[in-house]
Amino acid sequence: MGFKLKRALKSATSHVRKEAGRVAKKSRAEARRVAKKTRAEHSRVAKRVKAELLRSERKVSVELGRAEKKSGFPIKALLGAIFPAYLPGLVAWLEEVVKRGSKRYVLTQATKNIIERFKKETNFKLKPGYRNIEFFYNAHVPGGNAGITFENRVYFAFPPYQKDADDLGLIFHEIVHTYQYRKQGLTIFIAKYLADYMKNLIQGKGTKGSYYKVSYENEAYRYEDQFVDWLRAQNLPK
Ligand SMILES: [Zn+2]
Repeated sequence: MGFKLKRALKSATSHVRKEAGRVAKKSRAEARRVAKKTRAEHSRVAKRVKAELLRSERKVSVELGRAEKKSGFPIKALLGAIFPAYLPGLVAWLEEVVKRGSKRYVLTQATKNIIERFKKETNFKLKPGYRNIEFFYNAHVPGGNAGITFENRVYFAFPPYQKDADDLGLIFHEIVHTYQYRKQGLTIFIAKYLADYMKNLIQGKGTKGSYYKVSYENEAYRYEDQFVDWLRAQNLPK
């Protein structure tokens, strides 16, 4: 290679290196600018979210304080761990866990007819529930219970046998819960349910007793018993 060519090559290489360095410097500066902007945006959003949470926390705190005064139980301290603003998210998560791996369950026409007859003949008092209730079985129902309901979605641990009065009673029990949800809405239903349960625990009713004495459960069991008694009285199902 000639001397001239070598020099030209060297100069070209150095030029490329310089150019690359310039580009790198520019892109580093650009990256820093973007990062700074993102950080600023991030902290702005975080500030806003924090303010919003604080506001709703204060509102909830006032509400709970009122309930506490009325009932005489430290509901506020107990519910502190499950701050109600997070409740819908927590419930959605719980339902996802319950639902995982479950299968659709269908009420037979005979079951639907029996339920309608019962409601008509006994002047069933609850306001109409959801029109479309979805049923599932093989669900992960917590606490070793047979069923759990979220709004108009009913989950059973095992598929109830629709030719058995007690199993029909279980189905009706969960349907009563859909009526309660419809009336109260998800958040209030769950918050009241939990507050009731904890109040019972403090009163020393034990885990089982506390569950049965939750007002929503009390009502559901009352209707369930009434339904099963009615079924047996007419020798149903056939
Ligand atoms: Zn129940």
